[in-house]
Amino acid sequence: MGVNILANNMLRGYARMIEKVSESHIDEVLNKLSLEGVYNQLPVEEICMVDYLSKVLSTLQKESCGKCTLCRISLRQMTAILKDAMEGRGRTDDMSTIKLLCEGLRLGTDCTFGKKTADFIEEIIDKNYLELEEHITKKGCRTMVCQEYTTIHILGNLCKGCGNCIDVCEVDAIAGKSGYIHIIDNEDCTKCGKCLEVCPNEAIIRAGIDKPRCPERLIRVGRFRTRRKG
Ligand code: SF4
Ligand code: SF4
Ligand code: SF4
Repeated sequence: MGVNILANNMLRGYARMIEKVSESHIDEVLNKLSLEGVYNQLPVEEICMVDYLSKVLSTLQKESCGKCTLCRISLRQMTAILKDAMEGRGRTDDMSTIKLLCEGLRLGTDCTFGKKTADFIEEIIDKNYLELEEHITKKGCRTMVCQEYTTIHILGNLCKGCGNCIDVCEVDAIAGKSGYIHIIDNEDCTKCGKCLEVCPNEAIIRAGIDKPRCPERLIRVGRFRTRRKG
């Protein structure tokens, strides 16, 4: 095959690639991937930005035609980084790595998809940097969407020591006896939430970044003070 024929074939192939994700289509996709499009009226304070970004990436992975290695690998890598960030394996340079991948995508692809998705992803990161960082540095999710980062607590001032919670806990993560404030061991707790459903006093809560102060040993009901004196 002559060099010109080969070049023409490559150009035709490339044109097909670009055609596959046309500008109007990518605009439509990105429009649907706006916060309102993805969560449909959920208040913004209930939306976890890491969860949102991972939904965005999952859709973009499906929309990419996958013919450029850079686009394929970058989106896959960003998705893996976010999964780690949501599951407690985040690293301090994760967000800057995603931004670097965006930069590569923007500069290294001629297709509108690569450039527009890079801008879109980077804008989400820039606008929500603190919240994204919290998942990594504080291992916390302020909206409590990332279950991995929540913990379950029994509030010492509300527990009446009835024992309902112990009965439903399948992993024996709750310590207590009748008339004493019960305590959850978050090392053993699977965060299933069953104890929250059976407490008649709403003494059990799920916490995100801010954890309540709770008794650290068994003490009698009514003897726990939420604030230390002095
Ligand atoms: S940048 Fe992505 S969508 Fe565009 S041609 Fe390459 S692989 Fe396909
Ligand atoms: S936390 Fe609730 S269910 Fe458990 S012992 Fe206290 S009052 Fe009862
Ligand atoms: S959330 Fe589930 S595992 Fe954790 S203490 Fe409650 S019942 Fe047990």
